Amino acid sequence: MSMQLFIGGMRGSQPATGTAFEQFGGDTTSLLLVSSEGERLVFDAGTGMHTIARELATMGPGEVAVLFSHYHLDHMVGLTMNPLFYESGWSFKFMGPALADGDVREVVTRVLAPPYWPVSWEQMEARFEFATFDAEEIGIGNLRVRQCPVPHPGGCRAYRIDDASGAALVYATDIEWRNRTKAQETAFVTMCGEPKPADLLVIDAHFAEANADAFVGWGHTCWEDGVGIAGSVGVERVLLGHHAPEATDQALNALEQQVKKCVPGAALARSGQWLTIKGNRNHADMA
Ligand SMILES: [Zn+2]
Ligand SMILES: [Zn+2]
Repeated sequence: MSMQLFIGGMRGSQPATGTAFEQFGGDTTSLLLVSSEGERLVFDAGTGMHTIARELATMGPGEVAVLFSHYHLDHMVGLTMNPLFYESGWSFKFMGPALADGDVREVVTRVLAPPYWPVSWEQMEARFEFATFDAEEIGIGNLRVRQCPVPHPGGCRAYRIDDASGAALVYATDIEWRNRTKAQETAFVTMCGEPKPADLLVIDAHFAEANADAFVGWGHTCWEDGVGIAGSVGVERVLLGHHAPEATDQALNALEQQVKKCVPGAALARSGQWLTIKGNRNHADMA
């Protein structure tokens, strides 16, 4: 019993193309989580959405929740790349926070409309629903989904998913840890660590300590902070993402070797990979 996580893309800010980006992939952030009981949850709708649509198609029609961390374009542009929106039998529930510049319904319907997109909602065969996610916790099927605000220009949310199997994932893209308030720190650390440390932390690693000072206010974290948070709360497995658009396979491979020397359970996200998330041995002790 476990959750499965598919990485459609984890390139940050804008897509990258070319032979230098084949191994880690150039598609922007979009991940698919399949729970132990078959619920399907997509995190963000970057250009990785097109490979996620392919994976979903192999599983067959049904319900899919699409959960947005925030609405920057690198997390939205893949909405135009999902052919399943035009097929009957599919049901997509778009969920996300109400931020200063709009809630999930306003933003998604603004993007998938002229002049940005020519096809009207009436021409799409799938069913669509919208739900603002402002509560601290909701249920999606048998999944327990918690959220907390994280520092990022315009606002952003991190999510924790607890599966019926006892496995837990925290998804935290687009977070500038060094700009956090005390309240944000407490909320995020609590979410990562309680009621037990998450089995996998997916976190922004756009920068490194060596260059982070030059990009204060850009909204991203350096990998050293990501693995530091994990270590402080007992999360053993970390997946680093939101790779800088200019970071080549050569650079990311070198970085991964460096990261693994510090934290053996850390790795860099690669487009097209499936990961298994199992509950750690302590989960049976947890309420
Ligand atoms: Zn982003
Ligand atoms: Zn962003």
